[in-house]
Amino acid sequence: MAYELPKLAYEFSALEPYIDAQTVEIHYTKHHQTYVDKLNAALATKPELSSYKVEELLAKLEALVPAEIQAAVRNMGGGYLNHNLYWETMIPGGSKEPQAELAKTINSKWTDFATFSKELSDKALGQFGSGWAWLVVNSSKELELMATANQDSPLLTGKTPILGVDVWEHAYYLKYQNKRPDYVQAWWNLVNWDVVTEKYQQAVA
Ligand code: MN
Repeated sequence: MAYELPKLAYEFSALEPYIDAQTVEIHYTKHHQTYVDKLNAALATKPELSSYKVEELLAKLEALVPAEIQAAVRNMGGGYLNHNLYWETMIPGGSKEPQAELAKTINSKWTDFATFSKELSDKALGQFGSGWAWLVVNSSKELELMATANQDSPLLTGKTPILGVDVWEHAYYLKYQNKRPDYVQAWWNLVNWDVVTEKYQQAVA
């Protein structure tokens, strides 16, 4: 059963003016599609892995995945899942801040939303080269911020991502060129906190 590019819940232009339509189109139809295709190509060589979800393969990469396709599963499986989350946790005109239990937990850990969002932005800006910044739930079911290089998923280190910002240049270069801080600041306007809250509740359940 091959993986497929998930449907976007909005038009390519829906994230304007924060993320331009051309960037969304190329990012989704070329970059994300390529991760899906290359993940499928790698998994097709190992039918014995077909009973595992890609989340499980990443969480137990060395134990489950033969050495010759570990890099492909790490990079392409990560790229597939990371982008699924990226698109799913954005929405045009999204709710501006977390709600309910997630809001309480963020405020108890970071004092307030402004401090939390600044620290996550700092992770995104501090990631040298291509990668991601994340809000994750760790194995103690606590929230943490982290950054990863390339397409490494937090699942590789036993953490469940519930929100992620892509800081590869392909995510922003057409509109923002080298100005990653402007892109990250714009991205905050798009976060779909309803979905992030759902993911948090699932991760701590
Ligand atoms: Mn990307």
